[in-house]
Amino acid sequence: MTAYPSRIAVDEAIALIRETAHSHRTGAESLAFNRAGGRVLADAVRAPIDLPSFDNSRMDGVAFAQASLADGVPTWLRLVGAQYAGVAGGLQVGPGECVRITTGAPLPTGTDTVAIREDIVERDGGMEIPAGLSRGADVRRVGEDVQAGADVMRAGQVLTPARTGLAAALGLATLTVARRPTVAVFTTGDELVEPGLPLLPGQVYNSNRDLLMGLLRAEGLEPTAWPTLPDDPERMQVMLADAASAFDVVITSGGVSAGQKDHLPGLLDAHGRIVFWKVRMKPGMPVLFGQWDRALFLCLPGNPVSTLATFLTLGRALLDSLQGRDDPRPAWQARLGAPWRKEHARLEFLRGQLAPDGTGGLRVLPNTADASHQLRAAADSNALIVLPEGARDYAAGDIVDVLPY
Ligand code: AMP
Ligand code: MG
Repeated sequence: MTAYPSRIAVDEAIALIRETAHSHRTGAESLAFNRAGGRVLADAVRAPIDLPSFDNSRMDGVAFAQASLADGVPTWLRLVGAQYAGVAGGLQVGPGECVRITTGAPLPTGTDTVAIREDIVERDGGMEIPAGLSRGADVRRVGEDVQAGADVMRAGQVLTPARTGLAAALGLATLTVARRPTVAVFTTGDELVEPGLPLLPGQVYNSNRDLLMGLLRAEGLEPTAWPTLPDDPERMQVMLADAASAFDVVITSGGVSAGQKDHLPGLLDAHGRIVFWKVRMKPGMPVLFGQWDRALFLCLPGNPVSTLATFLTLGRALLDSLQGRDDPRPAWQARLGAPWRKEHARLEFLRGQLAPDGTGGLRVLPNTADASHQLRAAADSNALIVLPEGARDYAAGDIVDVLPY
């Protein structure tokens, strides 16, 4: 085999993934704004108009010129009309006059202030306005939210629903976003059988395919699942080469350790290129990353919890980099709900229950079933607890990083 980094730290693995993915960026496409939710913006978004785009009322009430008000005492103003939202303003309001106005309605010419309905008294064909209103009260000024020409979003940001709403408010019908990577998912292993079929002696049900499909769909992708690969290098080579020529990313589970039946490292080395093999993490140590034809290959270890932990850390880093995402994933910290003896030198991911601690912080209770085949503990949990490299005794209350999933 050719030389490649091995037994590297998680941070080094992420750096190598980012570097490799950078030259495989997916490129941009133009999408209708209402189809672009969850995508990564490929260009900055510049506001073509001001928001608000005209001065308007913040409340239902009456509008008038503040100069019409007497000092320190209520003022009666003659009612000369009404201005509703959605209608161009043509009203002229003179000194000593007022108009009814609704929320969002443009301020008529001659007015600069709004008094809210609840504070005014209607009598004798006019309105009594309370004392003490300052000029501009309850008026929303043109451009006070967004000024035309401003960059309101940057390339690399993810389109959240609020950002889609902002694009819509600015009248932007299309947005330029990163193309979603195409992803092929393979599970490997002669022992695997699909749920719904009988389980023969020595077989296990295939949990990782749908674990991975769910994780990928949660990232907004439409992954393609391939039939399970047998532990047969010739047959693996044919199917993987096929996927390698057609997909941006190939994600596999199993067959990456040093066992007699672990063929992926050899195949990737022979037909493509290994970028790294083995990362100092627990679980997930044998994870392999490389390239074959046009696809980047992320080969995850087969133990289900290893698959989960390596996907959440390395898999998401790969997908993010391919799309140029630089919006950071939220970084969370919590206090350990129980002591933990960390015996391994490797960076360790535990599974745990994360919840508010009732005093404004978060608490995470590690699940004691910490082996990489114990999927039940992962299913009972909602976060990975990240314990950095080095053996250490953790006390209850110690602050740790957590990755919610
Ligand atoms: P491997 O990485 O192929 O050596 O597999 C490690 C362990 O994970 C073995 O016990 C496999 O049976 C198990 N395993 C591998 N792939 C899957 C899968 N797709 N679903 C459930 N268990 C798996
Ligand atoms: Mg296997």
